Amino acid sequence: MEFSGIKEKTLVLIKPDAIQRGLVGEILSRFEKKGLKLVGMKMMSLDDAILREHYAHIADKPFFPGVSNFMQSSPVVAMCLEGLEVVNAVRLITGITKSRDAEAGSIRGDFAMSVACNVIHASDSLESAQAEVSRFFAKDELFDYMKSEYEFVYVQDEREA
Ligand code: ADP
Repeated sequence: MEFSGIKEKTLVLIKPDAIQRGLVGEILSRFEKKGLKLVGMKMMSLDDAILREHYAHIADKPFFPGVSNFMQSSPVVAMCLEGLEVVNAVRLITGITKSRDAEAGSIRGDFAMSVACNVIHASDSLESAQAEVSRFFAKDELFDYMKSEYEFVYVQDEREA
């Protein structure tokens, strides 16, 4: 899988609170309007094993069992987005963990109030993105195709970066 230039990839999970609150379309729309390329998308239920792996960095925190229950309270929608420096761009659009302090205009800033129920997950570094995209998507679930609007989303040297 390529993770460089405009083929850099990141993982977004639309969390159960957003599924329940009918925010899937709104969230996807924000990423589409930004000019990001959707290269994979599916609905899935998360089990204990994938959550322990995905949230290994918080597995010893007292709030982890609550996070795990919340993430299993309904299916999630997993998306793989592609673009130049997309990991950073998507984190900026996501906003900080504590939603009620997240910047207005970000997804968490506009749609959430909670620390735990914060609408989406987004990979926080290129290394995590590589691990997370492979964790949630098989190779044949990711699609390589021409996006005609790229001529207007990037200039030529950005497309060739
Ligand atoms: P982020 O999702 O912003 O990268 P973390 O990786 O630190 O944040 O935490 C993973 C997820 O665990 C958060 O998105 C949130 O759902 C939950 N979480 C983090 N900190 C807390 C906390 N103090 N109390 C409850 N849930 C938390």
